[in-house]
Amino acid sequence: MVNLELSEEQTAVRQLARDFVAREITPNAVAWDRAEEVDRSIVKKLGEVGFLGLTIDERYGGSGGDHLAYCLVTEELGRGDSSVRGIVSVSLGLVAKTVAGWGSEEQRRRWLPGLTSGELVGCFGLTEPGTGSDAGNLATRAVRDGGDYVINGTKMFITNGTWADVVLLFARSTDAPGHKGVSAFLVPTGTPGLSRRTIHGKLGLRGQATAELVLQDVRVPRSALLGEEGRGFSVAMSALAKGRMSVAAGCVGIAQAALDAAVRYAGEREQFGKAIARHQLVQELISDIAVDVDAARLLTWRVADLIDRGQPFAVESSKAKLFASEAAVRAANNALQVFGGYGYIDEYPVGKLLRDARVMTLYEGTSQIQKLVIGRALTGVSAF
Ligand code: FAD
Repeated sequence: MVNLELSEEQTAVRQLARDFVAREITPNAVAWDRAEEVDRSIVKKLGEVGFLGLTIDERYGGSGGDHLAYCLVTEELGRGDSSVRGIVSVSLGLVAKTVAGWGSEEQRRRWLPGLTSGELVGCFGLTEPGTGSDAGNLATRAVRDGGDYVINGTKMFITNGTWADVVLLFARSTDAPGHKGVSAFLVPTGTPGLSRRTIHGKLGLRGQATAELVLQDVRVPRSALLGEEGRGFSVAMSALAKGRMSVAAGCVGIAQAALDAAVRYAGEREQFGKAIARHQLVQELISDIAVDVDAARLLTWRVADLIDRGQPFAVESSKAKLFASEAAVRAANNALQVFGGYGYIDEYPVGKLLRDARVMTLYEGTSQIQKLVIGRALTGVSAF
């Protein structure tokens, strides 16, 4: 990680993402936020340009590339609209990449071409009404019945929930002898007994289809099991370890967008007879944002580099996610301060950045949970 120069391929993919965001996302982001719905056609477009297949093998419809390229694209998407960034981080980052890593050949061939092309959308069903941070304590049950499993339970706050064609679902499998008895299943959302309800009124990420999923006697064949029975908690944790890098990259995008907006506005707005950029305390706000952007980006790229070199990365991913999410909130809040009262109304971009940033300190492990992960690694003591 000493050489920070991007390869030609990485620079090209970042430019592709910048052009895509300028053309397809930025002009629509405010309208999608107000309408509480991103135009679903964006998923096919993301698939066509290869952004839903990054890091996935071309044999399964993927577009290849390394994790740094994935971070660069994720950052640009987050710079344009966190709702769209989240669709990719979940459908590709949490679902397709997990199927690629843990799935049988049959599961890869069944799901990956659709997920990478954008024909299909995936969602990740871990959180429940009663278990968020303590995810291993989940209550959804999968009971063996002949060659099938019958699943009952409720999943909460599921990104892409109402759009998804397949849910990577975590349930306590009663026969499982393994860690915490949790197993992972790939459940088509059209399966009888699975119903969904959109959760409205979110503070941010308003364009995203966040849902509650209810499973009542949902019957799936044994072939729906992803990985071994009882290994589901490891499947979830490995997905989230990479997922946290993706959230961090999205946060770098938010912070960069906050910096761009603050610099531009400070140069245009005049008070006390001069541009506000000429006031030292405004420069302080801007320089604080800039340092947050750089620090968050470097921590995030380090995770990508570790993954690409096959090194352990989970704790570094928690550090990046912790810092970048808190930095994105600080950066958006500082940018709003630069905008003064205009920052508080949605004709200007920074209020949305702050609303979208706020959830990043909550999902895929709250900031407190990231600190406990880091603390456990340093002290050898679990303090959950
Ligand atoms: P709780 O776990 O109840 O935590 C409440 C507070 O207690 C927090 O401050 C927390 O940090 C603190 N706390 C809890 N335990 C400890 C501890 N041991 N020590 C110190 N403090 C602690 N989940 C999915 O499975 N899939 C998704 O796609 C998904 N998308 C989401 C999208 C949105 C918009 C939102 C809001 C959430 C999403 N989630 C998703 C759920 C998200 O991951 C959880 O909200 C998160 O894990 C926190 O769980 P909780 O909300 O139940 O809070």
